[in-house]
Amino acid sequence: MNIIDFRFDGKKKFRIKDFETKQEGNFKDRAEAEERRDDHIMDLQGLQDKLYAEGKEGVLIIFQAMDAAGKDGAVKYVMSGVNPAGVIVHNFKVPSADELAHDYLWRAMKAAPQRGMITIFNRSYYEDVLVVKVHDLHKKVGLPDRVLTRNIFKDRYEQIKNYEKHLHDNGFRIIKIFLNISKDEQKKQFLQRIDDPAKNWKFSDGDIVERGYWDKYMQAYEDAINATSTPECPWYVVPSDKKWFARALIADIVVSTLEEIGSKYPEVSEERKLRLAEFRKMLMDE
Ligand code: ATP
Repeated sequence: MNIIDFRFDGKKKFRIKDFETKQEGNFKDRAEAEERRDDHIMDLQGLQDKLYAEGKEGVLIIFQAMDAAGKDGAVKYVMSGVNPAGVIVHNFKVPSADELAHDYLWRAMKAAPQRGMITIFNRSYYEDVLVVKVHDLHKKVGLPDRVLTRNIFKDRYEQIKNYEKHLHDNGFRIIKIFLNISKDEQKKQFLQRIDDPAKNWKFSDGDIVERGYWDKYMQAYEDAINATSTPECPWYVVPSDKKWFARALIADIVVSTLEEIGSKYPEVSEERKLRLAEFRKMLMDE
């Protein structure tokens, strides 16, 4: 499995129709994928420890997907491999009145990662070019006429690209992951949520309504991904009908990015080493 096959950095076009959601990679079976994933979790622990200790770069992982594609599971999974002190998860819900009174990037900027930290966005400012575009919500939130042009989403793609470049140029890496499931798989997942009492709470009436807009969502995802994929801040389109495959691939993507960052434990100066030797002696002499 090569993560390059799933990466969109602006050089090739992403066509959602051509993208197989049921991929299983070249794993022999599910067990092999899970083994690989667990190895990555071990790697992730060490890499995060160095990222945190060095405190130079920060990482932002964005998960976007249709309902029931496995976003929550993916977030839980990434969290399982890391020291909770170094990770923050931020969920983007329907914006509050206070959030709507600001520009759409404001709430994301407030939650942007710190150096040394991994911040996970469960949904993100991409909702402002996805659900907002699908339902024309921008027309209902009191934006001035000069902003409500036919180009509003093109303008937003540029603003997002600029914001992400700004973060990247200031020492932050952004991993953008679209969990891509098929409409059939979503139906299966919804039926499970309806049939399994332990999963009933996960199902909301709105999920069925949004499913009715499937094609418009797919177009919005395709447009957003094509418009905002860059070499510095690529999108990864993760086939997600097989959750075990998706998680193995996500693990690979996160680990590769952290390896690329290459954080190191801070080096101790000779002077400090002498000081530590003195402390050592003091402790031993007690
Ligand atoms: P998830 O499916 O991510 O687990 P949820 O469905 O459990 O989340 P909700 O309380 O429904 O949680 O919040 C997510 C909802 O908020 C989604 O329907 C999403 O489209 C909506 N949302 C997020 N950002 C915006 C936005 N900027 N404008 C309008 N709706 C938004």
